[in-house]
Amino acid sequence: MKLQDIRIVLVEPQLAANIGSAARAMKTMGLHELHLVNPRQWPHADASTMASGADDVLTEARVHDTLDQALAGAGLVVGLSARTRNLSSPAELPSESARRVVMESARYPAAVLFGRERTGLTNEEVDRCHRVVHIPANPDYSSLNLAAAVQVMSYELRQAALAGAPAPQPASEWPPATAEQMEQFHRHLEEVLVRIEFLRQENPRVLMRRLRLMFNRARPDHNEYQILRGILAHIEMGMEGTLPGQRKRAREQGGE
Ligand code: SAH
Repeated sequence: MKLQDIRIVLVEPQLAANIGSAARAMKTMGLHELHLVNPRQWPHADASTMASGADDVLTEARVHDTLDQALAGAGLVVGLSARTRNLSSPAELPSESARRVVMESARYPAAVLFGRERTGLTNEEVDRCHRVVHIPANPDYSSLNLAAAVQVMSYELRQAALAGAPAPQPASEWPPATAEQMEQFHRHLEEVLVRIEFLRQENPRVLMRRLRLMFNRARPDHNEYQILRGILAHIEMGMEGTLPGQRKRAREQGGE
C-alpha cells in the first residue's frame, strides 16, 4: 500500500504530547513519514509517552527550521484548516483530498500540513497549499485537537489506499512544478510586477495572494513552470535592453 511516502508535516507544534499522539495516529494507519517544522518542545519525554509504541516514527521524524525545507521536492501540498478562509481555495473533504494524495504520491512526494494548536496555519502557509482540507465538524465547535485531526486524515488516507479508488487523473504527463520552484516563481513574478510598476496598488499583498490562489488551482507542470520563468526573464531583459532583437537594432543604429 502506497502510504509510506506521504509526508505528514506539523507546523510549529507547541506540545510534545501532541507530536507523540500524532505519531501514534499515523502508525495505526500505516503512515511513517513525520516532519516537524520548528517544534517548540523537542525532543521531549511527553512525545515518547504519548507515542506509546510508535517511537520509531518519532525517532525517524525529520526536524526542519522552515516550511520550505519540509516541502522540498513536494509536487502536491494539502493543508488542513479548522477555519474556512475568505481568500483561499474552497475546502475539500478529507476523503476527497486523501484520494488525490494517495494517487499522486505514487509519482512524486506529497505533503499534508497541520497547523499550530492555538492559531492553526498562517495565511502564508495556506497559500503554499494546492488544496485546503476541512474536517466537517460541529460548526459551533469545529476545532479538533491537532493529533485528532492527524488521526482523521490518516484514516482517510488509509481508506483511500485500501480502496484503490479511481482518482482524478493527472492533468499532464510532466510532473508538477515542485513547491520550491513555485516559491521561486512567485518571488520572481512579484519582482517583475514591481519593476513594471504593476504592483503599486493599495494592497499588493492581496493581489499576490490572488495570483497564488490561481496558480495553486492551475498547478503548472514542470514544462509550464519553465515557460513562465522564461517569460519573466524576457520581460526583465526587455527592460534592460538586452534582448537579442534590441541588441541587433542597437548595433544597426550604431552605423555598422
Ligand atoms: N484555533 C486553531 C485550530 C488549531 S487546531 C484555528 O483556528 O485554526 C490544530 C490543527 O489541527 C489545525 O491547524 C488543523 O491543521 C487541524 N484541525 C483541527 N480541526 C480541524 C478541522 N475541523 N478541519 C481540518 N483541520 C483541523
